[in-house]
Amino acid sequence: MISIIKFQSLMKDMEMMYSPLSEGQMNIYYERLKMFDDNALEKAVKYLYDTHIYRRFPLIAEIRDAAFKAMGEMPEQTTEDVGDDFECEICHGIGKMVEEITEKDGYFHSVEKFCICPKGERIKAIRKKWLQDKKKKWS
Ligand SMILES: [Zn+2]
Repeated sequence: MISIIKFQSLMKDMEMMYSPLSEGQMNIYYERLKMFDDNALEKAVKYLYDTHIYRRFPLIAEIRDAAFKAMGEMPEQTTEDVGDDFECEICHGIGKMVEEITEKDGYFHSVEKFCICPKGERIKAIRKKWLQDKKKKWS
């Protein structure tokens, strides 16, 4: 959650570019946008500088959309963020697990899979991005 002081300073920055908000409007903007954190709103403001094509001040809905976009671009939570006391019982922090599969004919083998915990999700995302980048590079 962003503090009112920080929020007002961000909005003041935008007022250099767009027609200013009244005090009443500023309060409503804060009420509707305070659930975002500083980082998301800072990025949202920069995003709006680049994309907002009107002289009028961006609407609450526009800032909200931009903040959600900014959050989507932020790195996913890692096990480090979860805290030291977090330990996955399945992978013990490795992020991978082994699944044992028995086929109908009795053939037994094991496959390595990404774990379902935050660490597993994280390395799965890194792997996926790496594959996409590789594809882009060679296509
Ligand atoms: Zn795990």
